[in-house]
Amino acid sequence: MFDVLIVGGSYAGMSAALQLGRARRKVLVVDAGVRRNRFAAHAHGLLGRDGVEPAVLAAQGRRDVEAYPTVTWLEGEAASARKTSDGFALRLASGEEHHGRLVVLALGVTDELPDLPGLRERWGKSVFHCPYCHGYELGMGKLGCLATSPMSIHQAAMLPDWGETTYFTNGAHEPAPEELALLERRGVHVEREPVAKVGGAIDVTLASGRTLSFAGLFAASQTRPSSPLAEELGCELEQGPMGPFIKTDAMKETTVPGVFACGDAAIAAGAVPFAIGDGFRAGTAAHRSLMFG
Ligand code: FAD
Ligand code: MG
Repeated sequence: MFDVLIVGGSYAGMSAALQLGRARRKVLVVDAGVRRNRFAAHAHGLLGRDGVEPAVLAAQGRRDVEAYPTVTWLEGEAASARKTSDGFALRLASGEEHHGRLVVLALGVTDELPDLPGLRERWGKSVFHCPYCHGYELGMGKLGCLATSPMSIHQAAMLPDWGETTYFTNGAHEPAPEELALLERRGVHVEREPVAKVGGAIDVTLASGRTLSFAGLFAASQTRPSSPLAEELGCELEQGPMGPFIKTDAMKETTVPGVFACGDAAIAAGAVPFAIGDGFRAGTAAHRSLMFG
């Protein structure tokens, strides 16, 4: 019987595990190793580790966590979870089952991109969603912004701080007059001709064959928690601008007592520093719950 079962051993899950391990609590981390930023060569904006390789950061985090003898790490996938009389049971894809008093879901999210030829292969390389993460490195070169929903207008309006911006409405929506005024104020060019494909690093080819070249292309993905475990346990989801995420209170407890959630899966728009902070909160809150009920 573990004190806490943590699903997801990336930045959020490891940060939760670190606090619980340091409190000498028995923790199981189950991790499938499919981190959201695995497509990117560098992670930016993390104080003290700006520009670190995501896999290097994850490997260091795992060493930090595994230094504590009460932490058990299992590589694999948690296939299902259920409430038991004295806590929770987690069944792995391998068939083995583990029991714990509390659960922390640190599942991350999965990105869904529009079905545009050439887009997915360039995700994290020359196609990005977050200018704070990847804008600076584009060196004030020309930027494209591909509308994926009416929310994309906000992304387009931010981008001129990182480079001259062209906004491709691509049939996703027609900006309202006040939105057009905002784009004009920010100096954004609006292109209404549909996008046929992207190529090179990075060329945007329109339906007519006209091609525009950019230093980078921004496209907001739609996101959803990477596994249905939260729904399975009965946790409520909340609708954010990018998609659903797990609803939690200020202590990162979900609507199901004893189930905590942290990181991208439990915030509206995630980033590595948030995931680490959120995991700290969930880990310490789970510990409080073990101590004081
Ligand atoms: P994740 O890192 O996504 O990890 C979730 C973990 O849970 C994975 O290991 C997964 O395999 C595991 N998991 C899920 N379900 C199960 C299951 N059922 N059983 C077992 N394991 C499971 N942020 C920045 O701050 N700076 C950047 O430069 C940056 N660049 C990015 C670039 C790209 C292309 C993308 C897409 C995102 C980027 N981000 C960046 C965001 C960053 O990746 C996320 O905020 C961060 O990874 C969230 O951490 P997390 O621990 O919540 O989830
Ligand atoms: Mg995690």
